[in-house]
Amino acid sequence: MEHPENNEQYKGLKVNKGVTNMPAISPYLKKRLQRRQYTAPEFVEGILNGNITILSQAVTLVESSKQEHQQLAQEIIEKCLPHAGKAIRIGITGVPGAGKSTSIDAFGMYLIEKGSKLAVLAIDPSSERSKGSILGDKTRMEELSREKNAFIRPSPSAGSLGGVARKTRETIVLCEAAGFDTVFVETVGVGQSETAVHSMVDFFLLIQLAGTGDELQGIKRGIMEMADGIIINKADGDNMDKARLAASQFRSALHLFPPADSGWTPKVLTYSGYYKTGIREIWEMIDEYTAHTRQNGYFEHKRNEQSKYWMYESINETLRNTFYNNPAVVAMLKTTEQQVLDNEISSFVAAKRMMDCFLGA
Ligand code: GDP
Repeated sequence: MEHPENNEQYKGLKVNKGVTNMPAISPYLKKRLQRRQYTAPEFVEGILNGNITILSQAVTLVESSKQEHQQLAQEIIEKCLPHAGKAIRIGITGVPGAGKSTSIDAFGMYLIEKGSKLAVLAIDPSSERSKGSILGDKTRMEELSREKNAFIRPSPSAGSLGGVARKTRETIVLCEAAGFDTVFVETVGVGQSETAVHSMVDFFLLIQLAGTGDELQGIKRGIMEMADGIIINKADGDNMDKARLAASQFRSALHLFPPADSGWTPKVLTYSGYYKTGIREIWEMIDEYTAHTRQNGYFEHKRNEQSKYWMYESINETLRNTFYNNPAVVAMLKTTEQQVLDNEISSFVAAKRMMDCFLGA
């Protein structure tokens, strides 16, 4: 609406039009505050120099779903790949309360005191629902989070398990290029995420507890089968005997599994993450495993198999996303789903129709 004050008779007075939506921050200031985006070679140089700020920013690009971020991220990863692969990658799982944070803090400090550089990553698909990552949170690893040689990154929180896992795997590449010689990938031992973690690590550690009734409860058989080492936490105070008993029960349970392709017999050890006892033995076990599998060729073989696995996983994810984001598919999907629910067509006919629609047949 025109302001009457702007009429010529009101000399010396001018009222400007109002703004409907006030910007939260002055656009001029915003422009100044915006960081200049590094180019791919700048990112790579920063990462190779071990610059943690640049590494973090590159990981943010890997996690972003924006097309232009993804493109830049892929360029960075490709250039970092020849510098990656030198770290030992360790998967750590255990049900909530098993002591993962306490243990990672303790293991991490042990390694850092030995001169290692450690990256702690996580896969937590449930974080999408809770809109905030539980795993990898810095506050959970108090001592480690103060160390300059430790890089702690929470689980990427958006997307499917496959998507989250791919991002973590790509982050491993960046961390290794930045000179981290040990990478932990943490996950909650309750679901499918273990398979994803297992497919990106060299050694898989399962944290268990004693004295909770049936010792094998709460952990799926498949997860136990994946473990290269089972470590019983909280072997301290009154719990010592129970922990030893649990260890012998796990040892007998492991005998029932077929021998692993690695030629390695999984070990069962007791320790206390809280009192930091038994930790050296865990690292001796991992060193022994590495020496053993490097010697019989399994270490390389497993990494090659993992690379192959991730190629197919990546193809599958891309296909799935392309399908579900296709406008023709989006337009038809719900109606077709309803037809299946109303028993008008079978699931298979419905699937075929959707595929035909996607392929433009
Ligand atoms: P997470 O959920 O697997 O990450 O487990 P936390 O590390 O948060 O540990 C769960 C609880 O167990 C906390 O109250 C810890 O203080 C306690 N805890 C962890 N490790 C030990 C241990 O070695 N001994 C004892 N007694 N308690 C522990």
